[in-house]
Amino acid sequence: METQVGIVGAGPAGLLLAHLLQRAGIESVVLEARTREYVEHRVRAGVLEHGTVEVLKETGVGERLEREGMLHHGVELRFGGTGHRIDFSALAGGRAITVYGQQEVVKDLIAARLQSGGALHFEAEVTSIDPERGVIRFGDEELRCAVIAGCDGFHGVCREAVQDRLRIYERVYPFAWLGILAHAAPSSEELIYTHSDRGFALHSMRSPEVTRNYLQVPPDEDVGEWSDERIWEELQQRMATVDGDFILQEGEIFEKGVTPMRSFVAEPLRHGKLFLAGDAAHIVPPTGAKGLNLAVADIRVLARGLRSYCKDGDGTRLDEYSDRCLRRVWRVQHFSWWMTSMLHRFEGDAFEAKLQRSQLEYVVRSHAAATTLAENYVGLDLEDV
Ligand SMILES: Cc1cc2nc3c(=O)[nH]c(=O)nc-3n(C[C@H](O)[C@H](O)[C@H](O)COP(=O)(O)OP(=O)(O)OC[C@H]3O[C@@H](n4cnc5c(N)ncnc54)[C@H](O)[C@@H]3O)c2cc1C
Repeated sequence: METQVGIVGAGPAGLLLAHLLQRAGIESVVLEARTREYVEHRVRAGVLEHGTVEVLKETGVGERLEREGMLHHGVELRFGGTGHRIDFSALAGGRAITVYGQQEVVKDLIAARLQSGGALHFEAEVTSIDPERGVIRFGDEELRCAVIAGCDGFHGVCREAVQDRLRIYERVYPFAWLGILAHAAPSSEELIYTHSDRGFALHSMRSPEVTRNYLQVPPDEDVGEWSDERIWEELQQRMATVDGDFILQEGEIFEKGVTPMRSFVAEPLRHGKLFLAGDAAHIVPPTGAKGLNLAVADIRVLARGLRSYCKDGDGTRLDEYSDRCLRRVWRVQHFSWWMTSMLHRFEGDAFEAKLQRSQLEYVVRSHAAATTLAENYVGLDLEDV
């Protein structure tokens, strides 16, 4: 088998790349280890930056997103039992975020890919790659390509193939997130990030009928220790307001999982014919809602580079791919680390708790500090980082 671009992984990164290349008339083959059913129902991120929404809309896969996505013009920071709104519209040039599940983006991209007749193979687990020769091996087959896009997530084989050439930067946090989905109407129109003495909590949503809530828990927490009653009780306690006005709607929990928190970057992103993108190259803690958006930003840069290379034979943009993406990766790493450090409880560290409180008060009082949060949260322009 031969193709111009061999794409490993049908997550948001791999699927968006295939879609953008298809529109540019560049042939690609996508290989995905899991079934279509599995990837279409894998619940993960749900906050889309302004730029992510724009690229999906501009390229014809934003119709359902526009219809069903929930546009948010701000978030609430809650601490000391009092809420403070960060107004994106006022602070970030009228920009907003859209709440739309990652699995819905994946469904839309798969539908577009299949409709266009492009190659997308499920249950095709890649066993190894050769980054110098441009060879991808899966089952008994070999796919030869001019370029390999390593979009196979944090546990994939592409980064592993070049691990002795990478510089790794990593931070593991002393906590994890217990995330739930529940059949309950959202209790607020916007996301609520809560800092409390009992730990962090996030109130989010996926639709007018479904809420997504998170609790900070110990890193090795057994989800079996958390009955539905215990989860609601803990959320109620952490999110309670001094004036008692906030009412957290409860409902049937239909999804529960624990996500570890980590910051990770593997540099550089290019090795011969291999280009790493998305979670294959970097991980951020979810507090800044950036993982999916960062994967999309990598792909926008990679697709531009591949267009110049495949259409005009100009490899300059591909040569710049790693440095270009890493500038944004580190901006987003800083923001995600900052949000995580500011909002979570660090067990037994009273000094840290005082610093956090001071920082939170500054962010909600200072126009400059609130602007920093708002413009990073809605996402900086590709050209501005
Ligand atoms: C449990 C969880 C919760 C998250 N929650 C949030 C959140 O709330 N907010 C946020 O912003 N981000 C969140 N993230 C991060 C976000 O979901 C990721 O950043 C995003 O999925 C990255 O997309 P990707 O395409 O790079 O990787 P992935 O989505 O991981 O896609 C990689 C694909 O490659 C496939 N693959 C792996 N190995 C092989 C192989 N050998 N051969 C073929 N295919 C292979 C995988 O099956 C997968 O489909 C979460 C992540 C996890 C794991």
